[in-house]
Amino acid sequence: MSLEQFFNPRSVAIVGASREKGKVGYEILASMVKGGFAGAIYPVNAKATEVEGLPCYPGLKAIGKPVDLAIIVIPSKFVVAVMNECAELGIKSVVIITAGFKETGDAGKAIELEVAAIARRNGIRVVGPNCLGVMSTSSKLNGSFGGDLPVEGGIGYMSQSGALMAAILDMANAQKIGFSKLVSFGNKCDVNELDVIKAFADDPKTSVIAGYLENIIDGQAFTRVAEEISRRKPILLMKSGGTAAGAKAASSHTGSLAGGDTVYNCLFQRTGIVRCPSIKAQFDFAQAFAYQPLPPGSRVVVVTNAGGPGIMAADAIEREGLTFAKLTEETMKKLAPKLPPAANIANPVDVLGDALADRYEFALDTVLDDPGVDIALVLLTPQAMTQATETAQAMVRILKAKKGKPVLACFMGAAKIAEGLRILREGSIPQYGSPESAVKAIKVFADYAAWRREPPRVITPIKVDKAAAGAILKAHLDKGLREVGETEAKKVLEAYGFITPKSGIAATAEEAVKLATSIGFPVVMKINSPDISHKSDVGGVKVNLASAQAVADAFNGMMSQIPQKMPKAKLEGVSIQEMCKRSQEIILGVNRDKMGAMLMFGLGGILVEVLKDVTFALAPLTENDAKRMIESTRTCKILKGVRGQPGVDMDALVQALLRLSQLVTDFPEIKELDINPFMAGLPGQTSVAVDARISVEK
Ligand code: ADP
Ligand code: MG
Repeated sequence: MSLEQFFNPRSVAIVGASREKGKVGYEILASMVKGGFAGAIYPVNAKATEVEGLPCYPGLKAIGKPVDLAIIVIPSKFVVAVMNECAELGIKSVVIITAGFKETGDAGKAIELEVAAIARRNGIRVVGPNCLGVMSTSSKLNGSFGGDLPVEGGIGYMSQSGALMAAILDMANAQKIGFSKLVSFGNKCDVNELDVIKAFADDPKTSVIAGYLENIIDGQAFTRVAEEISRRKPILLMKSGGTAAGAKAASSHTGSLAGGDTVYNCLFQRTGIVRCPSIKAQFDFAQAFAYQPLPPGSRVVVVTNAGGPGIMAADAIEREGLTFAKLTEETMKKLAPKLPPAANIANPVDVLGDALADRYEFALDTVLDDPGVDIALVLLTPQAMTQATETAQAMVRILKAKKGKPVLACFMGAAKIAEGLRILREGSIPQYGSPESAVKAIKVFADYAAWRREPPRVITPIKVDKAAAGAILKAHLDKGLREVGETEAKKVLEAYGFITPKSGIAATAEEAVKLATSIGFPVVMKINSPDISHKSDVGGVKVNLASAQAVADAFNGMMSQIPQKMPKAKLEGVSIQEMCKRSQEIILGVNRDKMGAMLMFGLGGILVEVLKDVTFALAPLTENDAKRMIESTRTCKILKGVRGQPGVDMDALVQALLRLSQLVTDFPEIKELDINPFMAGLPGQTSVAVDARISVEK
């Protein structure tokens, strides 16, 4: 059911409306009245006849007229009874402001579950409990106790923290930042982030969806929906701390390298959601996203009346990886005759300290016509002759005339620019306090626009032997085994097209020698035990064994030394393997939590945890995703070949990631997986999965 009645109700009942100032039941009612809500307001309070000049009802039933929205502020122990009344009266939208539910312990949790059950049975939507309420500026509905209704604008805001929303409102009201709707959903017993995002996506008054989240209820549904919505409306989120619990419990390299927050970063990247590091950054970004056209590219031009700030902006543009626009000869020829001889007519265009508004207007107008410019940043410091107000007016005129390229402002100062800032705000031009914060906003804006231009994601299935892999995993699960050791794990990988070194298992020194002779020297010997997953740590790997004698010695050595280090480990002989050509050791991995399966790519070998040069992405991957993962590691430069060293077969790496992506998508029972090392071959040579392990879970 839609959330429409939370935002555009014709009538609102406030259950627990109070006459006592300072009580939530009073503040909500006062907010509703003060906000100017045009529909009917029904205070409900058995002990009063009138509150804030409105007639008061002893109960919901006594109202005798339809109620679109009920806001509940009575103590938690009475809420179930009121919910039942709502059900009886057909009230379909309820906000429960009251605290004292899940957040207080088992008793509170039981009430919350009952409330949710009543809601589900009767098709009632519930916002809360333990929340600040809802606001809708267009219907002048302030069903909250968070503060005054903000001015109308394009930002739809949701918050998991009521207190944070109060702070945001205060800040927004001081700076006249406009909102369409605000929802504080507290404990999310029914309405959650996904419902609100969907509602905002369909709301014509909302141009940007923003919010603060502590968790996401259903990661996979969220990913699906957010990815689709992000393509039409930007989503800007703050997400607070991921837990370290997931990482702590992990036994794989991938698990220990993926912190609790990594999955959220992956999810946001996949879905085009802009992750905001702070409230200030969020509003900096939202201003640009809400009112400006999407930048067609990332080439930035700067127009300034001061050299210093111009250089600061240029530095920031470079640092953020944006492009400093190169103006065409034609543009510079147009600029030169109308600007003073001392003016800089290349980017940053310096109109000089004595520039009046007309010079700014001409320069901005001219550079925006340049086909090599995608975004303009106008810097202004209030010098003796500067016309901040008129310059702001000129910018608004130009923005309106030149559709399609965003214009952002950084007016520095205070009193002398105040009127100019007001004009910028009314003209929908975002203003930033420093060149750096303006450039940061440009960066995320341009990145988002680039994300939107990407072609739709296509996952191409690869031909594999799914049944063979499935049988091995199932056999482990059936036996209650969590760990799939090297030998079996490699069989799973082989079924998915990976190449592994020729190998076999030997139980005695004689068998080992025989096997080594048939594989061909030199060989590698590794201990084979279901209880040992990091073999080198116990002296369980010997490489480059070049003779029968060396093999026999290594075997006897392992059998006598390993039991001393791990007396309880069950030893099942050794594995004898073909010795692969040394090359760049890569790690490929998988770590799954309830948000989804993440793939990892990075520098492998025994130093992975030390160097931590790894990247993550959510499965399933497209070819582009795989390439991006590889390219965002530092190791990539080595892989491409440095200082006369040849590069490795990049396509084999991409293919390996895609096969792994398909494997974990096919088998949700794979919890963790490490291929370490994956030996990346030179082009034309084979790339080999040298070591592997998989953890499974029902
Ligand atoms: P573990 O990670 O359990 O200690 P590995 O099988 O990864 O054991 O072996 C440790 C190291 O030995 C690898 O990182 C690799 O450098 C080398 N190695 C292992 N197997 C081979 C092989 N078949 N060919 C070449 N080098 C190997
Ligand atoms: Mg290894």
